[in-house]
This record gives sequence, C-alpha cells and structure tokens, in this order.
Amino acid sequence: MSDVIMPENTPVWVNESRCKACDICVSRCPSGVLAMNLDPHKVLGKIVKVMYPQSCIGCMECELHCPDFAIVVADRKKFKFAKSSKEAQERAEKIKANKFMALQEA
Ligand code: SF4
Ligand code: SF4
Repeated sequence: MSDVIMPENTPVWVNESRCKACDICVSRCPSGVLAMNLDPHKVLGKIVKVMYPQSCIGCMECELHCPDFAIVVADRKKFKFAKSSKEAQERAEKIKANKFMALQEA
C-alpha cells in the first residue's frame, strides 16, 4: 500500500513521483484503463496515466504488480467499480499492441 492518500471518487490513482514508467501495470490491466503517455520531463520520457477511470473494475492487478508501490486502487467499500465490458477488453488489447502507449483516439 502507498503511504500517499489518494483523491476521493477516484478508482485508481498514480503517484507520479514513484512511477518508473515500467509498463507493468498497463500490461496487467484487463480493462484498458491505463496507458503510457509521452512526457519529456520524466526520466524515461513517459509516464502512466489513468485514461479511462470509468472502465476500472477494481481487480487490483495494477497495484499488486507495481514494483514501486506507485499505483493505488480505491477501497471496494468506498467506490463502485465498473463491470467488465467487451469494449474495455478490446481497448486493453489495442493498448498492449500499441507498446503500452495511449491510443490516438484517447
Ligand atoms: S507498474 Fe508502477 S512503476 Fe510501473 S508504470 Fe505502473 S505505476 Fe509506474
Ligand atoms: S484495478 Fe484492474 S481494471 Fe482498475 S486500473 Fe488496475 S488493473 Fe486496471
């Protein structure tokens, strides 16, 4: 768990000061919620962003696999997560095929 308090009404939140832009959370997300975005101010030139918070199903895959404790999923008792959808699953596959980068349509 992160020691940072996440904002309210947010299904999933990234602590950018900890994120090393390793792509792992994007590779694990089944709902295409997360994607890498170019950012010249970051060491690796990119950073993960929560692109589709409305599709987050609260599966915890991102938080459980982040090696830097940089991503936090809301408490199931406090946030009503989305149900899994075919559209979100297809988007997840497209993001993975796009080398974990955000899709242009985003
Ligand atoms: S797994 Fe963690 S460190 Fe890696 S990109 Fe995601 S939030 Fe950043
Ligand atoms: S909790 Fe699951 S659906 Fe939500 S961003 Fe993390 S991996 Fe994706």
